[in-house]
Amino acid sequence: MRLKDKVALITGAGSGIGRQAALLFAGEGAGVVVADLAPQGGEETVRLVRAGGGQACFVRADVGRAADCAGMVEVAEREFGKLDVLFNNAGISHIDDGDAVSTEEEVWDLTMQVNLKGVFLGCKYGIPALRRAGGGSIINTSSFVALLGAATPQLAYTASKGGVLALTRELAVVHAREKIRLNALCPGPLRTELLMKYLDTEEKRQRRLVHIPMGRFGETVEIARAALFLASDESSYLTGAAFTVDGGITAAYVTPE
Ligand code: NAD
Repeated sequence: MRLKDKVALITGAGSGIGRQAALLFAGEGAGVVVADLAPQGGEETVRLVRAGGGQACFVRADVGRAADCAGMVEVAEREFGKLDVLFNNAGISHIDDGDAVSTEEEVWDLTMQVNLKGVFLGCKYGIPALRRAGGGSIINTSSFVALLGAATPQLAYTASKGGVLALTRELAVVHAREKIRLNALCPGPLRTELLMKYLDTEEKRQRRLVHIPMGRFGETVEIARAALFLASDESSYLTGAAFTVDGGITAAYVTPE
């Protein structure tokens, strides 16, 4: 059991990577707090965890709101007695996010509120709880787009994920001596609703696939497994990293035929 006796709080756990992580973490012995804006998805994740014999509870939280972030941490300590792992995974990708000229301020503000401020607030309220537990691991979800520019821009999203990377690096240094590790997880493009709503034709999908050495999109469970490693003590000497799981995209100049 890689997370035996640990308590993990996962934001955006009602879907995608977050749900897979909840299932994996609980299967490795963690008590899991499933936090999500959407109760239906969150409750379903809890049901799936319990069906697999794991322990989980749901808390509705908008990560862009301070009171909700304070509340989700309180739930973890109340229900499970402590908090060891915080996976700041919730994020959005707005359909009208484009380049600097086309992106509306409202789209920029909303994206920053969820993707960047949400991670800040998670850390703001989560770090004191990790201190009370004697240390722990924080995983902040960034993206491969924080590392590479694309001619198909989603400027607010990209900037928010760049911010997550920088914030994580700095806090990793600040809290290193308190046994609190922080790493940024940088997933490549995944075969999920979040991405496929943009890549809605075979031509658009092929235009992306040509840049991926492995020649396929990733699966949410492949990212959740990386999060499990970062959450567990197996990664005990890893902090401040941009942990990239991208099918080789950032390693490539020319990809195989
Ligand atoms: P998803 O859309 O399947 O899941 C996101 C979850 O976050 C949903 O359950 C949603 O209800 C929740 N959520 C949205 N806004 C919220 C808020 N304000 N407060 C709390 N919860 C909120 O997405 P996913 O593909 O699993 O992505 C998870 C993370 O991974 C995101 O941060 C995303 O940016 C990042 N990511 C995804 C990809 C990809 O290709 N899918 C690639 C790189 C990074």
